Amino acid sequence: MSEPDLVETIIVGGSLAGLTTAIALAARERPVTVLERTRGRTQRGVAIGLGRTDLDAAVGTELSTRVIEHLGEDSLRQGPYPHPWWNVYTALRATAEELPDITLIDGAHVIEVGEDNESAWAITDDGRRFAARVLIGADGYRSVVRRHVAAHHPYANYAGYIVWLGQSDFPPEVNGKDYRVDFESGGPELLAPYPMVQGDGTIPRYGWAWFDTSHNDLLREIGAIDGDEVLHTPRTTAIPDEVYETMQRRARKWSEPWRSGLTKAFGDHDVIATPITEYVADTVATGDAIGGPLGEPAAALAGNDRDAVHVALRRYEAQRLQPMRRKVQGGMSFASMLG
Ligand SMILES: Cc1cc2nc3c(=O)[nH]c(=O)nc-3n(C[C@H](O)[C@H](O)[C@H](O)COP(=O)(O)OP(=O)(O)OC[C@H]3O[C@@H](n4cnc5c(N)ncnc54)[C@H](O)[C@@H]3O)c2cc1C
Repeated sequence: MSEPDLVETIIVGGSLAGLTTAIALAARERPVTVLERTRGRTQRGVAIGLGRTDLDAAVGTELSTRVIEHLGEDSLRQGPYPHPWWNVYTALRATAEELPDITLIDGAHVIEVGEDNESAWAITDDGRRFAARVLIGADGYRSVVRRHVAAHHPYANYAGYIVWLGQSDFPPEVNGKDYRVDFESGGPELLAPYPMVQGDGTIPRYGWAWFDTSHNDLLREIGAIDGDEVLHTPRTTAIPDEVYETMQRRARKWSEPWRSGLTKAFGDHDVIATPITEYVADTVATGDAIGGPLGEPAAALAGNDRDAVHVALRRYEAQRLQPMRRKVQGGMSFASMLG
């Protein structure tokens, strides 16, 4: 294994968090290398809100404007509709590709990270070694970086329910602009449909999330949950056919236009069942959006001030993580709201 050059910052993971952090550092003229495992399209969400204020706070007005140009400015003129996840990712990626301070390396699957007093490093599955002054983990739920810094607790606790996620077309006779993000309740379950705005301002499709507490045993049987911990989101093929059939029948309880869209999606097995962790339950409950919280730590990092980074992260922990832990300990989760 050859000795690598020492770069300033490595980010492991080039999705929403990794790209936003890289752009936030580039906005402050700091060089950053992003190591992304995949090549090409890998989508990990249906829809996400992107507000100008949060993005400004994270990456500054100039680069925020550039991201929004890539996303399609008309999409922000339509009120608070979420955007298709893929459109947000693509806009961040396109912006990152334009910035000379950002080096994007796809196909870099990090299998190990480490650190000593001089540097931090990442080693990929094909034997490449990258070293940096700072290494940031943005490698998603099954994070290699988190396993290094929190080896005692690499997985989050299960919140007690799954969310079925999918997306559907509005029927041609329906104008998506007549709908808003909504919650519809049906017994102990919730449906959250959310019209998604395209870059040109049109709303031809909606995403939806169906909160369901009745499949906890199934998730344990197929190994997605172990004890109290969520290990992974199951593949579509791991869910038995009869579960899709049952959900297809149950979808008839929702009102139109959702009923038709969900019935078709379950018939096509075009849905994902994701176990929700207590952290996600909290971010859903508090309406977390992309961007804002990254601003202060990124500014401190860019200022080369180790103490300021610690202060920014401690403030983040106090303002956001501690209240979240208290809510979780107090039993606030969608499961208890639903159950
Ligand atoms: C099934 C599912 C559906 C979801 N739907 C929504 C939704 O509709 N709306 C929403 O807001 N959120 C949704 N989420 C949450 C979703 O995780 C976030 O939207 C968002 O993708 C999180 O961004 P992230 O950058 O933190 O992590 P991720 O998007 O998970 O990205 C992690 C990145 O790191 C890379 N990576 C992982 N391991 C390594 C490694 N070892 N080496 C190098 N690279 C690595 C991955 O390839 C990926 O690009 C969903 C999650 C799941 C599992």
